[in-house]
Amino acid sequence: MENMSWELIGKIIWCLGVIGWGIIRFRPNIKSRKTKIAVAKRPFIERFSMFASQLGLGIVPAIWVFTGFPSQFDHAVSPITVIIGGLIFLASLHFFRKTHKALGKMWSHSLDLRQDHKLVTKGIYEKVRHPMYSAFWLWAIAPLFLLGNWIAGFAGIIGFGTLYFLRVGREEAMMEAEFGQEYRDYKTRTHKIIPGIY
Ligand code: SAH
Repeated sequence: MENMSWELIGKIIWCLGVIGWGIIRFRPNIKSRKTKIAVAKRPFIERFSMFASQLGLGIVPAIWVFTGFPSQFDHAVSPITVIIGGLIFLASLHFFRKTHKALGKMWSHSLDLRQDHKLVTKGIYEKVRHPMYSAFWLWAIAPLFLLGNWIAGFAGIIGFGTLYFLRVGREEAMMEAEFGQEYRDYKTRTHKIIPGIY
């Protein structure tokens, strides 16, 4: 009985996290449509990786949360793991909000350069080049602690990991092509997603 209720709390926290994410992204999503895109790179690999990410971060866990499928991979969750998972998701939303504030009009879903695109290198972009992806990694890890199912728990890591590893090299190449030495200098003084480490 006790395990049941923590399982439910984990599910509720996961849903609140996703809703929180939607609220944070809502305005940038509308605003970004007003700024013209100068360079758009949406080859098949990009659409495929965005789909993999949505599947892993959203759809697969949502199916388990709302239908219980696939129940053969269920496991018990403890209060501690649910609380840790909730804190990880909260940290994710915090970073997510900060990256949207810092990028402003420069943000887009995909690999696009906007008109008058400026390179952001301050604030949350000072030590890492991909803090929004750091935030998504936290979101990807959170279900492992929050949700009592191994498939729902690992889906985000696989789905977002697919997007991350298929995209980050292309993104950096695009930025380097656009900003040249400015981006190369930025690269030498920063890491990708974990300050000082990676
Ligand atoms: N990789 C970044 C941004 C993800 S959003 C992060 O994880 O925080 C993807 C878009 O952001 C890309 O289309 C690119 O044009 C833009 N972008 C990435 N890094 C940027 C930077 N330092 N300054 C301005 N725009 C950036």
